[in-house]
Amino acid sequence: SREQTVSNLHDKIRVCVRKRPLSSRERERGEKDVAVVRGRRGMSVMEPKVKVDMTRYIEESRFLFDEVFSETATNGDVYERTAKPLVEYVFGGGNATCFAYGQTGSGKTYTMLDVQDGLYIRAAEDLFALLARPEHGHLQAFVTFYEIYLVDLYDLLNDRKKLFAREDAKQNVVVQNVREVLVQSPEDLMSVFEYGNGCRSTGSTGANADSSRSHAILQISLKDVSGRRPVMHGKLSFIDLAGNERGSDRGDRVDKRTLKEGSEINKSLLALKECIRALDLNKAHQPFRGSKLTQVLKDSFIGNSRACMVATISPNSANCDNTLNTLRYADRVK
Ligand code: ADP
Ligand code: MG
Repeated sequence: SREQTVSNLHDKIRVCVRKRPLSSRERERGEKDVAVVRGRRGMSVMEPKVKVDMTRYIEESRFLFDEVFSETATNGDVYERTAKPLVEYVFGGGNATCFAYGQTGSGKTYTMLDVQDGLYIRAAEDLFALLARPEHGHLQAFVTFYEIYLVDLYDLLNDRKKLFAREDAKQNVVVQNVREVLVQSPEDLMSVFEYGNGCRSTGSTGANADSSRSHAILQISLKDVSGRRPVMHGKLSFIDLAGNERGSDRGDRVDKRTLKEGSEINKSLLALKECIRALDLNKAHQPFRGSKLTQVLKDSFIGNSRACMVATISPNSANCDNTLNTLRYADRVK
């Protein structure tokens, strides 16, 4: 059946779903697992409902993606079928982007940017193995790591210095004065990443935003350093997107800031969907200008570009609405 057919790992756009296990807290609260993995590509949400006459029934919503990872899948399993094919692609001179999309607590950071085990560091292991080959002697890897909160950019490798993006004469988007660090091994990258991660915003102080309300962008650029000036060869990006839930779902006091955050996040996620879709359609006009996120990622949507989205979901009944929102969004990306 179609559900069993594995999609092509080298598609320009891949949209995958990853379900995390129920947490012990959710289990203790007696919450049910309502997300059912069906074959390699199918996902169902079993939503408990009550009719007006009080009869109970379960509404099943079915979806089909390029691939679905169940709660038993490891980061290694996910890596093999998402980011790994993108590593080779950037050596061929393309831009590739891996997105983690989903509600706060669904596993975005665990998947993409876990310090020890995220897709980013697995990709780095393969990337440096390829860089060590003699035919790649002219290439070097440089890393940038920044955060977008509301419409502002903060350099995580430079004490959260505020950054500005502009378009140059060739309509390339340049993030001015972003700190770019040469990395020569996975260990190198991990320590640079760890430093930046320590600069991510934390909600607790009140001085900074909650990191779940910002997008984190880690980019590894391969540059040809054989000439007088380094020339961009290909770029691999890992994006830990802001949580897609609405502020009111988070039990927050709905103040002005919360509303502004929510509307900015919503805007950027809608623009992102349009940009990824346009990547596949190869449209001449592309909707970058819809948000700061899509503006700074412009060169990842044009030319030789690929995108892989990992939509992460929480399996528990209490998050059913958010899970359905995530699956509907992911369904429309491709
Ligand atoms: P998010 O970044 O989407 O807010 P996190 O990545 O922080 O979510 O994950 C929330 C919690 O769930 C963390 O404690 C994390 O370790 C755990 N978790 C997420 N995904 C998995 C998984 N696939 N397997 C085991 N634990 C997971
Ligand atoms: Mg997170």
